[in-house]
Amino acid sequence: MKILQSLEELIFPVRCLGCSALGIEICSRCRKDWHPRIIRTASKLSPHFPIYSSIPYSPVAGKVLLAAKESGISSADKLLTDALIFALTFCLDETPATFIVPIPSRKEVARLRGRQFISAIAMQAGEFTSTPIHELLSHVRKVRDQSTLDAKARSINLDGALISRRYISGNAVLIDDLVTTGATLHEAARALRASGIAVAAAVTACVAEPLR
Ligand SMILES: [Zn+2]
Repeated sequence: MKILQSLEELIFPVRCLGCSALGIEICSRCRKDWHPRIIRTASKLSPHFPIYSSIPYSPVAGKVLLAAKESGISSADKLLTDALIFALTFCLDETPATFIVPIPSRKEVARLRGRQFISAIAMQAGEFTSTPIHELLSHVRKVRDQSTLDAKARSINLDGALISRRYISGNAVLIDDLVTTGATLHEAARALRASGIAVAAAVTACVAEPLR
């Protein structure tokens, strides 16, 4: 087994997720940009619940997110999960949140990736913190690509895009990989509220500050 492992490393040497330098998953230089801390923000769209994150967005963070999301690289998954657990632990301590609701990707996207990415990492964070996870949300219609839209346009683009499947008593904590404008979290909270569920907080691994 050990021989096989070193053989694999010879053929597929470990490279830094941030800068591709040979060696470890994240080199000491890139580690400075991926160093979990507690960042509390709120979105102008949903000022009534706090957002807990642990990694400020940077080019390094962007590469880790992409490696986990689009390529399913396990070391990137691990970095994201650890960042999420860090923020979730603080969130559970400070808010009345009792269960996790992951933000789903659209079915077509999940099919291409071979998994519901956020659910997969949220599941591990839930296990670690002994918090139940309920996959209540699903997409009801297509939305435009969000990358070029500002907060208001994103909010209009997303309005009514999600529905919640059922009622669960308690307070939800929304989970996503990245928050930029908060429009997705806002829509998720609206959908949950429509089925009578209160959102106590949101937790994301990364945050693009300031929230636009
Ligand atoms: Zn690096």
